Order: sequence, then structure tokens, then C-alpha cells
Amino acid sequence: MRQIVILSGKGGTGKTSLAAALAHLAFDENELVLADADVDAANLELLLKPELEEEHSFEGGFKAEIDTDICTGCGRCFDICRYDAVIPPSSNREISEYRIDRISCEGCNSCLYQCPVDAINSLRATAGKWFRSRSLYGPLFHAEMKAGEENSGKLVTIVKNAAIEACEKKGCTLLIIDGPPGIGCPVIAASAGTDLAVISTEPGVSAIHDLSRILGTVKHFGITPAVCINRSDINLAKTTEIETFCRAEDIILLGRIPYDDSVTIAMSKGMPVTAFDPETPASVSIRGIWGTLSALP
Ligand code: SF4
Ligand code: SF4
Repeated sequence: MRQIVILSGKGGTGKTSLAAALAHLAFDENELVLADADVDAANLELLLKPELEEEHSFEGGFKAEIDTDICTGCGRCFDICRYDAVIPPSSNREISEYRIDRISCEGCNSCLYQCPVDAINSLRATAGKWFRSRSLYGPLFHAEMKAGEENSGKLVTIVKNAAIEACEKKGCTLLIIDGPPGIGCPVIAASAGTDLAVISTEPGVSAIHDLSRILGTVKHFGITPAVCINRSDINLAKTTEIETFCRAEDIILLGRIPYDDSVTIAMSKGMPVTAFDPETPASVSIRGIWGTLSALP
């Protein structure tokens, strides 16, 4: 089974549109499984219109909770908490008891150890959900984090491992992972163990800077990077600069994708651009990119 992760180093470079189009093109030749590892802002499902098959809750870190039947209102937890997560009773009595702000709570347990009457418990909080769905191109594993929750890297790992297991069970030849933006923990979780990182960049002023950061991350983990330049014609000088940079760094260049309104129209219809209209300039370019990608060893 081959694993390809689509990354960008920053948001808004067309990563998910590319992932959906590659899924559509790869489907003709492969038994596919798909994973949306951008769990903080999952949106691959919007382009693949999947049918939900399974839903699982994701338990994040520990959070403190006050048992108000036991609490005597001494205020020690409020004094101790360094994260301003303990909310005291308000002077106008709208809030009459000490409470924990679950978003601010870091689960450090300091208040729990200091409470004189053992009124505080440490409980695992539900931080999100993950799903298995059926898409036109194969099973899709995806997730959603609750606002303000942490451990998205852990949720990415759960989504990816479920996708790998499904791939192995079905004897699939290809796993396509729509990775998260940035270079942090979720990106590392999405990329670990993959064979190839397709990096979607665009010719903006910070392109080389952003590209260098994500290249450094994937190379550090021994993953082969390959670059494609989206909306390449909006700044041809910058596009040439990116290509020169990639050649100098011995990075595989997959090709250019021109600016094309059909990408936006396809998105609004909830379709990969290559399925919406295979003959638009973007679709033709992505087909070329898929041809180069599938020929790579
Ligand atoms: S330390 Fe315990 S008893 Fe005191 S206010 Fe906090 S929860 Fe209540
Ligand atoms: S567990 Fe730590 S962060 Fe959470 S309320 Fe208690 S002292 Fe504050």
C-alpha cells in the first residue's frame, strides 16, 4: 500500500481541492482509502459528499470538575490555578458557585491536590468525534475537533490508523491523506510513515519561506517531497523562482496548476474539479500531475 499525504505548510493553497481531484483520478486505477487529517478544519467531505457509516467520540486530555455538593467555597482552587480556569462566584450572585472554565483548564491537577475537601475530580473530556464514511472513491476517514480543544495530533493519528487498517483489510493499493496546514504536531502525525508528501504551494511573497519550512519538516522525517505550484500564473516570476529553488534543492517538481474559476465553481457544487469538468485548464494540469505522481517509484 502506497501512502501519499497532501501538505501545504500554510492554509489556502488549494490543498484540499488537489486532494479531492487526485482521489477522483486515482480511483480509476486503484482501490483507494481516503483520510482527512485536517481535523481542526476538515473539509474534504464537502467535495466528496460521503455517506456516514460510523461515528466515534474522541476523548482528549483531562479537565478539572468541581462537585458543587461538596465544595465549601474556600477559594483555594481560584488562588492556585495559574491558567485562570477557576471562575469564582460573581459579586452580583449571578454565579453562586466556584466553577471550572473547561477551555482554559490545562488539566494540571494542582487544584485537585489542594482542595481541602476533595471536591475536585479530573475527568477525561470529549474533545471531538471521528467518522468512517462511504465516498464515491472509497472509504473516507475524517474527524472534527470541538472548538478550543487540544490533542489534534492524537486525533489525526486515530483517523490515519483507522484508514491504514481499512486499507490493509481491503487490500487497497493507495491511501491519500489530506494533511493539515502548518508544520506542527498534526502535520507530523499525518505525515509519519507516508511514502510521499505532495506539497501544494502558490507564488506568493512568502512562498519560498513557507515551502522551506514544510520541506524541512518532511525531510526531517525521511519523507520524499514533491512540489506542485497552484495558481502558478498569478505571479510567473515567483513561480519560476520556486521552480529554480526546487531544482537547486533536488526536489521533485510535479507541475503547475493555473488559476482557474472552474475550481471555485466545482467547490460550490461539492465536486473535485476533475470530475466537474475534465477539460478545464486546472483539470488538465492536475491530470498531468497525477500522471507524474503515479509514475514515481
Ligand atoms: S478548593 Fe475545593 S472547596 Fe475550595 S472552592 Fe475550590 S473546589 Fe471548593
Ligand atoms: S486542573 Fe490546573 S488548569 Fe485546571 S482548573 Fe485546576 S489548577 Fe487550573
